[in-house]
Amino acid sequence: MLACEDISVRFGRNTVLGSPAPVSLTLAESDFAAIIGPNGSGKSTLLRTLCRLQKPTTGRVLIDGKPVREMATKDVARVLALVAQSPPVPHDITVLDLVAHGRYPHRGFAEQLISSDRAIVESAIARCDVEAFAGRRLATLSGGERQRAWIAAALAQEPRILLLDEPTSALDIRHQLAVMDLLRGLNERDGITIGIVVHDINLAARACSRIVAMRKGQIVADGKPSDVITPDLMREVFGVETEISTDPATGAPVCRYLSPIGCAVE
Ligand code: ADP
Ligand code: MG
Repeated sequence: MLACEDISVRFGRNTVLGSPAPVSLTLAESDFAAIIGPNGSGKSTLLRTLCRLQKPTTGRVLIDGKPVREMATKDVARVLALVAQSPPVPHDITVLDLVAHGRYPHRGFAEQLISSDRAIVESAIARCDVEAFAGRRLATLSGGERQRAWIAAALAQEPRILLLDEPTSALDIRHQLAVMDLLRGLNERDGITIGIVVHDINLAARACSRIVAMRKGQIVADGKPSDVITPDLMREVFGVETEISTDPATGAPVCRYLSPIGCAVE
């Protein structure tokens, strides 16, 4: 459904993704995949390349087998939505305006929203728990409130593929869990393909069906949380000693962090 084939991304002399070997990844319809890895390992670059914001130096990205380079921007936006890591804040727009803007790919340029659009916008606002400040300007919100507004805008887009770059980083724990549950529902009930960059390994392991681990611009592991999250992987990828147990309620691996080994940030 969404795939990248043999991609690499180079900035100047620095190949930040796909060196020494190019990177390939396929997100299938049923996938709810977490992308994990230390700072600078290429997670955002991979996500940006998958949604056509970043042109790969080599390789190509395909949606339903079609190269995205050959698709119109609006056609890509009809099927794929991105919640970026720290999108610029359009100062004077309200949360409601932002979420309503999510309908744009489904409408003509100057067309008004019709009642079915409004229902979709209202539902996105309710599901992301942003009703209380829907009339406020984005610039006046807290980081976490704003993050939820961006997620609501992406939901209003009604994508078949949803990519999110650290959407939970600024959220309180209740909203972190709520966003992950919301995404799981979208994946399980509505069949939306989800790729999400998350730093919290336990949050990822609890909610996601697949974990893709990155290090130094390479995918070093990809599989079920219980297969990927091991003390060896945590040591190799993050440079952290861990103890891994199994959550009896969910069967998901649970990491207890013991100590950092040197510093994994490169
Ligand atoms: P992550 O999201 O895993 O923290 P990124 O994908 O943002 O990592 O970045 C990977 C590497 O690419 C980092 O070393 C970063 O500094 C570098 N990088 C990202 N974007 C650019 C850019 N536009 N120009 C130069 N270097 C970049
Ligand atoms: Mg990033």
